[in-house]
Amino acid sequence: MSDAFDIAIVGGGMVGASLGVALKDLGARVALIEAIPHDAATQPSFDERTTALSNGSRRILDTLGVWPAVACAATPIRKIHVSDQGHFGFARIDAAEQGLAAMGYVVPNRSLGAALWSQVNAGGNVRIFCPAQVARVAASENSVQLEVSAANGIKAIIDTQLVVAADGVQSAVRNAFGVAAETRDYEQTAVITTILPQRFHDNVAYERFTASGPLAILPLADGRCTLVLTLSKAMADAAMAWSDAQFLAEVQRRFGFRLGRILKVGRRVPYPLSLSRARATSAGRCVIIGNAAQGLHPVAGMGFNLGLRDVASLAELIAEQRQQGRLDAGDSAMLAEYDAWRRADRGGSIAFTDGLVRLFSNPLRAVQGVRNLGLLAFDLLPPAKAALSRLSSGAAGRIPKLARGVALSGVALK
Ligand SMILES: Cc1cc2nc3c(=O)[nH]c(=O)nc-3n(C[C@H](O)[C@H](O)[C@H](O)COP(=O)(O)OP(=O)(O)OC[C@H]3O[C@@H](n4cnc5c(N)ncnc54)[C@H](O)[C@@H]3O)c2cc1C
Repeated sequence: MSDAFDIAIVGGGMVGASLGVALKDLGARVALIEAIPHDAATQPSFDERTTALSNGSRRILDTLGVWPAVACAATPIRKIHVSDQGHFGFARIDAAEQGLAAMGYVVPNRSLGAALWSQVNAGGNVRIFCPAQVARVAASENSVQLEVSAANGIKAIIDTQLVVAADGVQSAVRNAFGVAAETRDYEQTAVITTILPQRFHDNVAYERFTASGPLAILPLADGRCTLVLTLSKAMADAAMAWSDAQFLAEVQRRFGFRLGRILKVGRRVPYPLSLSRARATSAGRCVIIGNAAQGLHPVAGMGFNLGLRDVASLAELIAEQRQQGRLDAGDSAMLAEYDAWRRADRGGSIAFTDGLVRLFSNPLRAVQGVRNLGLLAFDLLPPAKAALSRLSSGAAGRIPKLARGVALSGVALK
């Protein structure tokens, strides 16, 4: 016996769960398959990290009805301060100067998970398979068959017209469709933790480039901040073993005293960093989104924001297709349109993030001079700042309806 669906989303992490919410009222029969419940300690997407959301992402979540539940845990970023340790250049971006209420918002991943999953569960046409894992994928011309194994050992067979690979960087679904991903190991590890500085952060986010990698400090509620300390692999191993006092002294040495003394540090968690880029964003009846399509260095906080634009674009095309009475969710023309739509945003975000990592890891003096001048020029040139805030908010190219505040409507099931 098999169950028939129009769309099966494999992976209910940040991106897959967002797609579940976006599709739930469009009239399509949707299956959402996730291996680990959103509130489990081992959940890899909704873990102890925080995510910096762009204004575009906030608008998408608002249009999807998720933002009110996220807002109470979100901290607005009013200013961004970028500097280079030991060099003269620095740049500031001020939301008010750009005519914005905030440059973005910092949200704990666990709060985002709770808000997204409560929406997916709140009625609509999404059938949840969780905890359950896709164990086998068999594709034919007219459908895709998925073998799903639940944690209790029960197996289910799902027949679907379209499978969405939202199963992260190591995507088994992407691999089953023969789509390779190019990867580059940055040989860096981000050590994430929470800190309490002596001075209030004033809702400023700091990005500081140091010889061993970038350091980011993001404002949180109660005056605390998230610290993302990027180090070489060997140094990160050492940093994980340091005492709290040693760790704080090292952070203070790199960051300086803009926030006074750093008084406390929380649990440290390491994340090895690499770039992963799938060679295609669709193949046959499979569409590849989020980290399964592109896994970025967190330096510019773009990964989820980009994945959410994948979601908004794909959901819009599916809604349009259904309104036009074209009910094959795996239609190749629709997938080709998706690929074309996502190309520039995806390529630009990957190039921007990768370029930033390379530029600021280069020890050559000439490059250092250029990057310092670049930061200064950036600070003096309002159009450059406006361009960056447009790029980081996704306000470039064709903007999805959800990011413009326009709800999607579908065709109800008969
Ligand atoms: C340190 C760090 C900081 C970051 N900060 C930011 C930030 O500030 N802003 C930002 O925009 N982005 C940020 N990112 C990037 C962001 O975390 C990712 O872009 C996001 O997690 C991608 O979500 P995803 O759902 O595509 O993939 P994942 O988070 O990897 O989720 C994949 C899901 O699929 C499930 N799964 C896998 N295989 C199967 C299977 N066979 N069957 C069923 N389920 C399966 C997994 O359990 C998981 O829940 C950061 C990343 C890191 C590492």
